[in-house]
Amino acid sequence: MISTNTVGTMSWHPVGSFVLPRDFVEFTGSRPSTFFEEEAVHVDLTVPYCPEVISAIEAGAKAAGAEVYEGIYVCTEGPHLESPAQIRMLRRFGDVVGMTGYPEVALARELEICYASICTVTNPAAGMRRDAMSAGEITGEMAKSADLLREIIEGAASKMPEERSCRCGSALAEARL
Ligand SMILES: [Zn+2]
Repeated sequence: MISTNTVGTMSWHPVGSFVLPRDFVEFTGSRPSTFFEEEAVHVDLTVPYCPEVISAIEAGAKAAGAEVYEGIYVCTEGPHLESPAQIRMLRRFGDVVGMTGYPEVALARELEICYASICTVTNPAAGMRRDAMSAGEITGEMAKSADLLREIIEGAASKMPEERSCRCGSALAEARL
């Protein structure tokens, strides 16, 4: 599964470039984060994003000529954007910040789905630009990258291996207490 998320950069990535998260930190508060409410199931997230899906996305991005970086995704609760002080704090934890990448990354692992995300950089995070940015401007940047994103995903889909050799498919085998 390829997920798309929009992010603000805390690491000066160019607007319109893409980031493939390799790890994440979350600062959410009130989201259901498991399918196993009645059971103690602790999936391992040492490798949170499927390396095979990442490789396919990288191949798709290369073929499309897109600018792609790897990084750590920080998920906030929102719905408001972050304050400059929040961003100064969050920069210690990761490279890009968004509101949508968690809990899907953990839920996908619970379902043993191969999952990775490609994030469109739509704006520098708060305090890293001169002016405030409206939600409309962020959506506008997203639209500009939409065609390239589609091309990357189509390329990635064609590079996806037929058989899985990653460990995503057995995530639950050692997760139950
Ligand atoms: Zn996998």
